[in-house]
Amino acid sequence: MNVLLIGSGGREHALAWKIASSPKLTKLYAAPGNPGIAEHTELVELSVTDHAVVASFCRDKAIELVVIGPEAPLVDGLSDALREAGIKVFGPSKAAAQLEGSKGFTKDLCARFDIPTAAYGRFDNAADARAYIESQGAPIVVKADGLAAGKGVTVAMTAQDALDAVDACFDGSFGAAGAELVVEEFLEGEEVSFFCLCDGSAALAFGAAQDHKRVGDGDTGPNTGGMGAYSPAPAFTHEVETAVMHDIIAPTLLGMSEIGMPFSGVLFAGLMLTKDGPKLIEYNVRFGDPECQVLMMRLDSDLLEVLYAAAEGRLADQALSWSQDTALTVVMAAEGYPAKPRTGTVIKGADTAAGEGAKVFHAGTALKDGALVASGGRVLNVTAKASTVREAQTMAYEAVDRIDWPEGFCRRDIGWRAIEIDRGSV
Ligand code: AMP
Repeated sequence: MNVLLIGSGGREHALAWKIASSPKLTKLYAAPGNPGIAEHTELVELSVTDHAVVASFCRDKAIELVVIGPEAPLVDGLSDALREAGIKVFGPSKAAAQLEGSKGFTKDLCARFDIPTAAYGRFDNAADARAYIESQGAPIVVKADGLAAGKGVTVAMTAQDALDAVDACFDGSFGAAGAELVVEEFLEGEEVSFFCLCDGSAALAFGAAQDHKRVGDGDTGPNTGGMGAYSPAPAFTHEVETAVMHDIIAPTLLGMSEIGMPFSGVLFAGLMLTKDGPKLIEYNVRFGDPECQVLMMRLDSDLLEVLYAAAEGRLADQALSWSQDTALTVVMAAEGYPAKPRTGTVIKGADTAAGEGAKVFHAGTALKDGALVASGGRVLNVTAKASTVREAQTMAYEAVDRIDWPEGFCRRDIGWRAIEIDRGSV
């Protein structure tokens, strides 16, 4: 099978690595990819916003499956254009991608199909949003409706912070994404990322992970795209998974079908495990980055086979097998990240750093005059798998320390909560 993978992050490197190991693969192409992805694929320059160009490439190269990694091309309708051209795609339609593209859309779906989530209001003007906040009090959460590069959410501990967030939103801080907003109840509990593969009607549980969003040790400092992750998530027990599949995932798929937008692709549920049971914080319509890296390390099954089955609507008879080990990934970022990452600095030893059971996935890297350089904020994902989270952590940091990149940094405590749970101290 010839396959085209769209994307260039650590997530896509992990997908490329796993797809490349499939006996069903003939040739894997990636657009635009990165130097790590190039180890497993042929990189191609394609403008992914030009859907006709992508479709014509697929026809020329007899591509049988397109796997779309990031959310932007999904929200932009690339899947629809390819399907219309008769090409199989793993990824949701533009309409179904609203689950990520519009928080208000998802909240309304939850209300209509009785899916547990935070109580909320939707607003298209500051006066009504302010009145709602004043009636509810703090803590409270303000969210720009659209995609805002992970920056559109304010968890406000005071009503004033919430009111300021409303003003920032309607002042245009988030562009079109802030034309509407959602104000919602503050939920307390353990946060977990849970993934399902979907084919329009069936959902196949694809494991849970936890990530570390803050830039600094001890979960301090500004939010980032994610500084590390581990899987499995100790808090996400079999009972919790059963409840989530029944109360959240199944009604979502039914609801999406009922409104004429059947969902296929990855359904990534951001969940809060509250004292009243699991509640949906948000949906994403693609794998998390860096959660994908740890899931791929643990997956024993043939990824390509299951993605193809999802694209063909055949998930109901698929099963997955997983390593019982824990995988943990440490993100190495360029100094200055997240505000102003310094790019162009030289990284040495990334290709030889990983020992047995470890893997360095590339994110923001590029080749310049034969040297590997940083080209983005999050640059490398140093990932290890071992029988305990503590061991995986040790192996990952040993590999980090073999990488010679003075202008890079990472958190030193990825996995700390899971390690405390393992020790019985939480
Ligand atoms: P989101 O972009 O919706 O994932 O929100 C970013 C982060 O804000 C989440 O990962 C949560 O940590 C936090 N958050 C979002 N909604 C809520 C909520 N209703 N209650 C508490 N925390 C929230």
